[in-house]
Amino acid sequence: MSDRLLDFTQTPMGKQIAGLLGVPTPPKLRRAKSGYAAQPLEGRSVVLGSATDGELSPALASALHEMGATILVSTELPGLAPVKKAAAAAKVPLKTEAQGEGAYAYVFDASGMEGTAGLRQLYDFLQPRLSRLAPNGRVLILSRAAENTASVAAYTASTALRGFIKSLGKEIGKKGATANLIEVGAGAEPTIAGALRFLLTEHSAFVDAQFLALSKPAKGAELDRFVSPLAGKVAIVTGAARGIGAAIAETLAREGASVVGIDRPAEEGALGLTMSRIGGRGLALDVTAADAGERLAKEIGGLDIVIHNAGVTRDKMLRNMPAHWWDQVLEINLGAILRINDSLFTNGLNPGARIVCISSIGGISGNAGQTNYGATKAGIIGYVEKLAGQMAKSGGAINAIAPGYIETQMTAAMPAIPREVGRRLASLNQGGLPIDIAEAVTFMASPLAAGVNGRTLRVCGQNYMGA
Ligand code: NDP
Repeated sequence: MSDRLLDFTQTPMGKQIAGLLGVPTPPKLRRAKSGYAAQPLEGRSVVLGSATDGELSPALASALHEMGATILVSTELPGLAPVKKAAAAAKVPLKTEAQGEGAYAYVFDASGMEGTAGLRQLYDFLQPRLSRLAPNGRVLILSRAAENTASVAAYTASTALRGFIKSLGKEIGKKGATANLIEVGAGAEPTIAGALRFLLTEHSAFVDAQFLALSKPAKGAELDRFVSPLAGKVAIVTGAARGIGAAIAETLAREGASVVGIDRPAEEGALGLTMSRIGGRGLALDVTAADAGERLAKEIGGLDIVIHNAGVTRDKMLRNMPAHWWDQVLEINLGAILRINDSLFTNGLNPGARIVCISSIGGISGNAGQTNYGATKAGIIGYVEKLAGQMAKSGGAINAIAPGYIETQMTAAMPAIPREVGRRLASLNQGGLPIDIAEAVTFMASPLAAGVNGRTLRVCGQNYMGA
């Protein structure tokens, strides 16, 4: 379903009328038009700053340089020394930021930051520059994960960054710009480059005010496979006939995967159309079938990527909810995932396999009338946390994506007022598109997310529900 306010306010007349009426105009988001590029930041400037004791500059300077960015630094800032040292060691050229010069992105290494004095350095870096951030630009802060900090003051500063990012997202969202935080765990430095390729590019247009925690990668992880990162991989996507699932199948194929799309036998026609468009294969299968896992192993074989996307809503207040609605939602959204994975763990996954499950912000904030749905989507968040260790043993990972309001048949069926509220109560002032979820899933399914395991990433334009 199209967003009429967004479409209207993008026209010259619409802009003018919205201005006169004081109606907020949703920004037009810039989304990726093709797959991951070798130098996605070519021709763009990124200002790199650091806290005095920042430790992540070596990883940041090299990664930004390899992405093709022009790295700007300021001679006035306290954290210049670690950036200069890192750049010299990696032979990365730095350019001095000119007075009043704008940039596509501001990246700040907040590791080593302690207490309020450390946080003041972040203020000094961003405050004078923020008004010059490009439309659809990025603010990205990297910190040491709180549990890896050495002092109470450092722990406090690390957690303070979460509130900072959430507030900043609400401030800059109106220009389509986003603010995110990467929390770097011990030994996770080699995985920073992959995360930057997602969070600093148009692949993450609808990811806003989120914290992405990176852990040490598995042994043998492919850490520099940035272009066609899924070439040679076999992927399945459930619920692939339409909506978010179809977009996921397309995006995985765009990055080189051979995709098998799965949907209920009743959707075979739509599934066939989607899959023929991307050169993939369709498999008519109800994910709740008792033998679904065995069939996937038998009919497809070794899987590298498993995307559990199929999901339904059957909304009613709990006091009125019939048992068959409860059971249907629980079985499709959660029970099937557990059963299929259990079967695939025994037989069906290749070493290093990556699993991504679709949760929902409804599982974080809850909605009246969605006790069944909310339980399944929250259950997914706990499930991926619990299984992360097991997946890591074979070099793999399991993660979840929690979409916010996304324009699909599922949300088109909502009553008009909650639909409009769902769209607008977000820093980016609009609903997302299926491609936004597909991009995040593709990132999680790829070696770019080598440091991500057991996590849930919200893709919601900083929707205020549960934020
Ligand atoms: P759609 O209803 O548009 O698509 C879901 C697809 O899954 C349909 O093709 C559906 O087929 C299929 N499906 C349902 N049950 C089964 C089953 N038993 N076996 C195989 N396939 C099945 O949903 P969306 O694209 O909007 O949602 C995709 C996922 O994203 C879901 O998990 C949803 O909960 C989640 N999500 C969506 C949000 C949104 O705003 N749209 C927000 C948050 C989360 P059929 O039509 O025959 O039922």
